[in-house]
Amino acid sequence: MTDHPPEYDVDQLDNQYFAEAFPDADSPAELYRQVYKYTDCGAYLSMQIEYYKTIEPDGFNDLPFDKLVSEWVHSDALRRLGTWKDLDEKGVLIVAMMVGSVVEGVDQCTESIEVEAKQLDEEPEEFNNRFYVALSEVEREAEAIWSETHGCETCAKHFGIDLDGELSPVWTDCPDCEANGRVV
Ligand SMILES: [Zn+2]
Repeated sequence: MTDHPPEYDVDQLDNQYFAEAFPDADSPAELYRQVYKYTDCGAYLSMQIEYYKTIEPDGFNDLPFDKLVSEWVHSDALRRLGTWKDLDEKGVLIVAMMVGSVVEGVDQCTESIEVEAKQLDEEPEEFNNRFYVALSEVEREAEAIWSETHGCETCAKHFGIDLDGELSPVWTDCPDCEANGRVV
């Protein structure tokens, strides 16, 4: 017997929500693979999970009890979560995702953008929309960092910058790298 409407029961939340939000990905690891592959900046993906952990009796408590714990799982480690369905079977719930990028060569990071799951308020498609808006923002930032720092020798000459001492922005009219910059 519950004394409140079932939609307010936290136990009603499950990872099927994410299976619906991302119909092309059957698992967190697959979603990460897609995010990494389909962004120019090779974005990373982290997920915040929550689950109940049984705390065994010790000097402070006589009986075992269940404690809600929360942790972030990052990129390649997402593989250990299995599929969305595995997570439901294990009683582990994803409560938020986070995307960001580390720009190659300069180790500058974009902002990490957290996308909180609001299962009670949003349809899966809405979560999907917010997720991809966040990912586009990460791409935009990563591109901005890249074009501030990856100018080639000709770009640098155009701006009067000595590449031995500093990095050059990419010159949008550069005839050599054609505004693609160079790998640093
Ligand atoms: Zn150039």
